Amino acid sequence: MIRHKDLDDPQIREVIVLGGGIAGLSAAIYLGRAQRDTLVIDSGHSMAKWEPVVENYLGFPKGVGGEELLRNGAEQAKRYDVRFVRDEIRTVSSNKSGFRLRGRKATYLTKQLLLATGIFHLPPKIPGVKQCLGHSMFFCKDCDGFRVRGKRIAIVGSTNEAVEYALGMLHYSACVIVATNGRRPSWGKRHARWLAEYEIPVERKRITDVDHRKRKIRALAFTGGNCVKTDYIFTVRGDIFHSDLARKLGAKLDGEGQIKIDVCMRTSVPGLYAAGCVTPANCQMIIAAGQGAVAAQAMNKSLFEESLRMHSLRQRAEPELEAVPAR
Ligand SMILES: Cc1cc2nc3c(=O)[nH]c(=O)nc-3n(C[C@H](O)[C@H](O)[C@H](O)COP(=O)(O)OP(=O)(O)OC[C@H]3O[C@@H](n4cnc5c(N)ncnc54)[C@H](O)[C@@H]3O)c2cc1C
Repeated sequence: MIRHKDLDDPQIREVIVLGGGIAGLSAAIYLGRAQRDTLVIDSGHSMAKWEPVVENYLGFPKGVGGEELLRNGAEQAKRYDVRFVRDEIRTVSSNKSGFRLRGRKATYLTKQLLLATGIFHLPPKIPGVKQCLGHSMFFCKDCDGFRVRGKRIAIVGSTNEAVEYALGMLHYSACVIVATNGRRPSWGKRHARWLAEYEIPVERKRITDVDHRKRKIRALAFTGGNCVKTDYIFTVRGDIFHSDLARKLGAKLDGEGQIKIDVCMRTSVPGLYAAGCVTPANCQMIIAAGQGAVAAQAMNKSLFEESLRMHSLRQRAEPELEAVPAR
């Protein structure tokens, strides 16, 4: 149990939010407004930074930069006394009274822990394409399909998922190819039939170069010298879920490494919550923000219920309503 006097110690908190991306910031705003002593620990690598113009977040008809969203979110949370520290947590352990997080810079203790650590989209193994990330190389058709309408699109991948991406992109453009980048296709017969049915070309050779100017892709060069005009690449190489800390704490993960949660964002470990792309949710900013808010509400409720059990709710110091003389 964290005693009130301990809250003066900057390393002991009622709540720690690990991850200051979209899910973590949304949770922090709710927790701050619930007047919970909250610390956000963040290593500063939110995927939102990769998106120059977010077009699908509610309330921004002209779009908003991912960095701007993060900046505003942190500023908003700070208004409610949420504290922030830049650190990367390496290990975590738990006991009856809470969680101990060991970072590069310090050790932190907390009663409740929210993991909002996100994922990492693996970029394709193509030389010289990093600068195009978020500008003409994308990972997500739900985020970026709309903005590539009618353009020349290459799906880089060799799996069923790559084929499904290509089929899904036909909704936005008639000019779609699949580039396996030298890999042998591993898609199934049904997927091969779909490729044939919709006449989607497949380029199996390795991509040797990407011609791009000012972050805009212009063409893909393949071994043997073939060059294909291309405006946008989508890649489906896979994701790394930042769920190692959850695993160490004994939380249940699914087959892909995503942290299993219930409708209140509770994991299988008491006091441990998870929100955002590290969970099985669709990896979208507005969904991450919603999950962060749900987690914060559940954490606040649980802390309140604990106060009732422990008889530790704040006592009223003096009558706040003045008695009105009877007429
Ligand atoms: C190129 C690109 C474009 C995108 N475009 C869109 C879009 O247009 N619309 C949309 O809705 N979504 C978009 N997304 C997805 C969007 O970025 C994610 O849905 C969103 O960022 C998820 O929020 P999150 O809080 O789960 O994770 P993140 O925002 O990635 O935040 C996770 C945070 O946890 C921190 N962290 C992780 N581990 C540790 C640790 N051990 N110690 C300390 N800190 C840690 C990281 O540094 C990071 O700051 C895009 C993603 C990419 C890559």
